[in-house]
Amino acid sequence: ATPTAIMVGTGLGAKRGILFKNATALEASARINVVVMDKTGTLTKGEPEVTDLIATGIDRGHLLALVAAVERESEHPLAGAVVNYADSQGAAVLKADEFNNVPGHGAGAVVDGRRVFVGNRKLMTAQGVDIAAVAEQREQLASTGRTAVLVAVDGQVAGVIALADAVRDTAAAAITALHEAGIEVAMMTGDNEATARRIAALLHIDTVIAEVLPQDKAAKVSELQAAGKRVAMVGDGVNDAPALAQADLGIAIGAGTDVAIETADVVLMRSDPLDVPVALRIGKGTLRKMR
Ligand code: ADP
Ligand code: MG
Repeated sequence: ATPTAIMVGTGLGAKRGILFKNATALEASARINVVVMDKTGTLTKGEPEVTDLIATGIDRGHLLALVAAVERESEHPLAGAVVNYADSQGAAVLKADEFNNVPGHGAGAVVDGRRVFVGNRKLMTAQGVDIAAVAEQREQLASTGRTAVLVAVDGQVAGVIALADAVRDTAAAAITALHEAGIEVAMMTGDNEATARRIAALLHIDTVIAEVLPQDKAAKVSELQAAGKRVAMVGDGVNDAPALAQADLGIAIGAGTDVAIETADVVLMRSDPLDVPVALRIGKGTLRKMR
């Protein structure tokens, strides 16, 4: 590798806010044939907002107060959105006891003497909660690309909360550019299958890997590598860090968490998905000059 080619590549990147941490990162960029994108905060803005609240067998205001009490204790981005919504609706502020966070699933607590759980289907299954009463509404909301979160109160399903997170303006163009460069694109998310499929369809993403637990994201990257792929992983979250490390090239969104930025080989300071194909193109240009 000629130092001049590396310097040129690094400089080209820096001009666009694409920081290659070392020469190896530039070289790896040239060889990628699959890009795996995290959904929340990478393809989407990571600013979820509540759009729907469905209550069943319970007063809406009461449901919202119970859920908000649990979510006030959680650091999950969805939790913040639920709390904001509850506050905007003037929901009562209740105290949560025995809070517990279940990574990749949701959270639970005792509020007003009632056992409240908020999270995905896996959480409800683990708690033995039958979600049949809201299954249809949940599926309908998810099919629009919204994240549908379930609520259980004292072992009974009590509601569904839908949250929308806008897709970044340049996400579709980024995927088109990757395809034009002959690169396959996959989306990986902890969110439910129907939500993920809808967003993937909008963006013409080839493969969807949904309902992945945080601790399983790196293994999904290894599986692709074992199948002979050279993988770039693009992510923003604490959850994504092991997968960023496992990938042949880890790319962090600049607006992401410190751990993602520290783990990645490349950082996109502008948090623009279009900088993913640009980074890979710079890598290819650098490699050509090195030959
Ligand atoms: P993501 O990759 O979507 O950021 P996570 O692994 O953090 O996923 O969470 C997976 C799913 O678990 C979320 O899409 C949501 O349905 C559920 N979940 C996790 N934490 C919470 C919470 N505090 N409140 C509601 N739902 C949650
Ligand atoms: Mg994310």
